[in-house]
Amino acid sequence: MEAGPGDGARALQRILRDLPGELRAEEPLAPHTTFRIGGRAFALYRPATEEALAEAVVRARTHGFPWRMVGGGSKLLVPDRGFPGLIVSTAGLRSWREEGGQLRVGAGVPLSRVARWGAWTLAGIPGTVGGAVAMNAGTKHGAIADQVVWVQALLPTGCVRTFSRDECGFTYRDSVFRRLRLPVLAVGLRPQGWMDLTPLLAERAQSQPLGLPSAGCVFRNPGDGRSAGWLIDQCGLKGARVGDAVVSERHANFICNLGHARAADVLELVDQVQGRVARRFGVWLSLELEVVRA
Ligand SMILES: Cc1cc2nc3c(=O)[nH]c(=O)nc-3n(C[C@H](O)[C@H](O)[C@H](O)COP(=O)(O)OP(=O)(O)OC[C@H]3O[C@@H](n4cnc5c(N)ncnc54)[C@H](O)[C@@H]3O)c2cc1C
Repeated sequence: MEAGPGDGARALQRILRDLPGELRAEEPLAPHTTFRIGGRAFALYRPATEEALAEAVVRARTHGFPWRMVGGGSKLLVPDRGFPGLIVSTAGLRSWREEGGQLRVGAGVPLSRVARWGAWTLAGIPGTVGGAVAMNAGTKHGAIADQVVWVQALLPTGCVRTFSRDECGFTYRDSVFRRLRLPVLAVGLRPQGWMDLTPLLAERAQSQPLGLPSAGCVFRNPGDGRSAGWLIDQCGLKGARVGDAVVSERHANFICNLGHARAADVLELVDQVQGRVARRFGVWLSLELEVVRA
């Protein structure tokens, strides 16, 4: 007989029950994402310590459960049927220590706090430090890779390793942590200096649809000097809609949730955009948005 979701949740509860933190069975994932879309996970675990996070991942792996890291959920699309495994949230890992001009932060520290501390180029990006490092998040002013000194991450062997900046494999919106799915536990950063964030935040509020749920830019820029948003706009796709998923009128590389969008609506719209851009420009837009699949 096939294992049902209830069985998966119960098994994960049994496996993780002695670890510090909060474990929620059959947890709806939509509230854990900025898109506000998606079904339930077998379980969501919010570890209280970095050690507990590492142990939970090792145990999920040992027992053959799919698992995924979630920070602020601001780059994620959760399928309507949910995720048949363990979601590990870094929301409880918010340690903060300044030492010798550097900052050591836990993976769950909000990026907005780090931007105010002295990483101004990251101002306005939602999410956490761990997610930002995994995605090498950035703005037109720079990326988090510019501030990273070291990253502590969990290896598939269960050991924790400190990566120097050069070992992080940072590229455009990517890193070795995302490619190899290595959980980031803590990050060492150096400041850029103080800057008034008000104009930077005002500029973003002008150019991005911040009043509606979304996951930021959906497509990667193709790397030929043209932005994905420009290509989509040129195809007349602003306002294109499937169900409650709509291509933003304000920024063509954003898909917004008008209230009751399903993941299937977003993916259908993604498909339409990719098809139209490919037919008009011969460019296939690849996803920057991450679909949470087992
Ligand atoms: C309105 C809006 C504006 C945005 N603007 C920008 C922008 O200007 N620039 C930009 O780069 N992005 C932008 N984004 C996208 C997003 O905010 C960033 O990519 C952010 O860094 C994601 O962080 P997160 O904590 O939310 O990660 P999540 O969405 O939770 O996860 C993203 C990826 O990182 C992984 N991950 C999360 N935490 C960890 C961890 N501790 N260890 C290992 N892997 C981890 C996840 O498994 C997933 O693969 C925007 C999003 C929104 C909604």
